[in-house]
Amino acid sequence: MLRVYIVSHLPVPEDVIDHVGEVLSRISGVDVYSLLMEELVDFALQFYDSVRGQVNAELLLSFLKSITRVSSYTLEKYVYVIDVDAFVPGLDFVFGVAELCGDVAVVFTLRLRQEFWNGFYRIEVDPRRLFRERLKKEILHELGHTLCLEHCPNRRCVMSFSNSIIDVDYKSADFCVECLGKLRRIVSWRHKL
Ligand SMILES: [Zn+2]
Ligand SMILES: [Zn+2]
Repeated sequence: MLRVYIVSHLPVPEDVIDHVGEVLSRISGVDVYSLLMEELVDFALQFYDSVRGQVNAELLLSFLKSITRVSSYTLEKYVYVIDVDAFVPGLDFVFGVAELCGDVAVVFTLRLRQEFWNGFYRIEVDPRRLFRERLKKEILHELGHTLCLEHCPNRRCVMSFSNSIIDVDYKSADFCVECLGKLRRIVSWRHKL
């Protein structure tokens, strides 16, 4: 059984939680929980780089790992969803970060909002729906990394690397057949430990 905790300072829309559960249920038995944690923005701002005007995602991820207590009896993954803009050294920004095969991931939502891109990039979809679709993709992508998946060359696969919001909109909110197969092997192997 896989347990996924989606932790945010804002309520995560129900259809996002349901979609994540539905996709993962094809890999393993899964429970997805949504938790509110109001102090998350304050945590993130501790790692705010005032020169860049963004949060340092790597430092924040290490901090969140240090405060997350993961059960050693079940396979548990934590995805923190935070409405700020973040970077890792060498990249202008990131939509999320995760440790490969780790327990903790972070998704940054500020750049998933269409308001951020208006003027640069237009798309004729209801912005609230667009935000929910992008959030599903980024949560599944970072969860995929925590389940040992690396980037996928299939640009429709949720595990493809997104260099821009256009890439995020192009990919589907699902794993390709190959990534799905890998996930099944990884999860069943982990269950035997
Ligand atoms: Zn990635
Ligand atoms: Zn794939």
